[in-house]
Amino acid sequence: MTKYIFVTGGVTSSLGKGIIAASLAKLLQARGYSTTIQKFDPYINIDPGTLNPYEHGECYVTEDGAETDLDLGHYERFLNTFTSQANNVTTGRIYQHVINQERAGAYLGKTVQVIPHITDEIKRRMLLLGNEKKYDVVITELGGTVGDIESLPYVEAVRQLKWEMGSENCIVVHLTLIPYLNAAKELKTKPTQHSVKLMSENGLNPDILVCRTEHPLNDDIKRKVALFCNVTKDAVIEALDADTIYGVPLEMMREKLDKICLTKLQLPISKEPELLKWKEFLNKLRYPKSKITVGLIGKYVELQDAYKSILEALIHAGAVNECKVVIKNIHSEFLTPENAVEKLQDVDAILVAPGFGSRGIEGKIHAIHYARTKKIPFFGICLGMQMACVEFARNVLNMGDAHSTEMNAQTSHPVIAMMEEQKNISQMGGTMRLGAFDCVLQEASKTAAIYGSTTISERHRHRYEFNNAYLEAFEKNGLIPVGKNPATGLVEIMEAQDHPFYIATQFHPEYKSTVENPHPLFVAFVQAAKQYSHQ
Ligand code: GLN
Repeated sequence: MTKYIFVTGGVTSSLGKGIIAASLAKLLQARGYSTTIQKFDPYINIDPGTLNPYEHGECYVTEDGAETDLDLGHYERFLNTFTSQANNVTTGRIYQHVINQERAGAYLGKTVQVIPHITDEIKRRMLLLGNEKKYDVVITELGGTVGDIESLPYVEAVRQLKWEMGSENCIVVHLTLIPYLNAAKELKTKPTQHSVKLMSENGLNPDILVCRTEHPLNDDIKRKVALFCNVTKDAVIEALDADTIYGVPLEMMREKLDKICLTKLQLPISKEPELLKWKEFLNKLRYPKSKITVGLIGKYVELQDAYKSILEALIHAGAVNECKVVIKNIHSEFLTPENAVEKLQDVDAILVAPGFGSRGIEGKIHAIHYARTKKIPFFGICLGMQMACVEFARNVLNMGDAHSTEMNAQTSHPVIAMMEEQKNISQMGGTMRLGAFDCVLQEASKTAAIYGSTTISERHRHRYEFNNAYLEAFEKNGLIPVGKNPATGLVEIMEAQDHPFYIATQFHPEYKSTVENPHPLFVAFVQAAKQYSHQ
């Protein structure tokens, strides 16, 4: 029978529930338990696809084309397994289903209410992955903070499930904060007490408390928290600030979070976690032998979470190369031909990020021009690839006003244009070209050598594409479409000749990079940057 662990958050947001959930899952997986993680988000959007990155950071895309919360990226990077649409549910999706059912007459004249109809639908979805019989443990992260009005139905659903399944099959791990008051030189437990009290007012008591703290928790503090919060002392777990998120699983192992969960769920603790590869990775990450600087050109660079998967993929690739990757964030809006040298002269590689809309677009084009002409390793992703084509068209093919029709519908050279199947779409949510598609690579290309294969599959999220009317002109002049979708002929990868590393992809390779499987393109990009820095 599948066992369930719910991870809730208290006191404040941004405590790293996603990382704690992913770390616990990693430990259980390393002990031989097949584990998956899902996230329930209390907002009313159907999915985060329509959200501005400033709201919730990056939108993560799964194999099956679901636009999901960025925590799913952590789950995949930690567990090295795929997630899917079923792993991310929002209040919007729950209500949409219930309302559709109501319109179909499924409630037989009953009044449709939050309890039981909304909570029943939440419970049904919470158990969906477990019903597949593939998993020993399903971990469910509840977005938001206990006490939020919109979190209430979720807390109620967990309360009911715990009651129905019994505490040996369903436990709650509550992540909380023990702040340190500098003036008093003291750790304070009151916010944690209050947040647990708030939960218990709703009939739910946590089984384990994971306490984020800047200072170690001594025995007295642990005893006090245990006493006031109705948990055993060994279930008060210290979670000190970590130097890297990838160190958290080992920290949690040291604190026995996995063992306590297994004991409470009455699951055997037979073998020690198998974390050899993980530790090797951590070692390389912590003790690099060299250093490079990557210029990240984007319009959301001030927000760490907006390019989460790209930053993590660079960390994975850095570790493989035993090289520290320093990110220099460069705001595309403020990059001009005049200041390009000043802003870019100290970088060893340039990555132009994905994006939407015209803000900062010319800055991206200048950065690409600089990388191409100065022969600096260049990696363009999605919009980055599209702008690489625009730059090439303008400056090599002499098509002065070349552009993507996303930015200039009137351009006389629409080298990037809307895909045919997109033209009649009026709904914005979930209608882009989304998810995994096959791509066939030219055998003689650098990209094929990097992948070690000529057929690959990568994830997409875009509406515009390379306009194949310009294929010949590009190819003749040295920007080669080395990867195409075999079914549709859509260009997926551009590679420049006569350049040490110039690869641009219409897909998002960053979504598939994990600790155990760093993405080959990122690994090769960091390697090229290393070579460049030694010149
Ligand atoms: N705005 C571009 C498109 O929709 C690129 C999207 C992206 O970078 N993810 O095609």
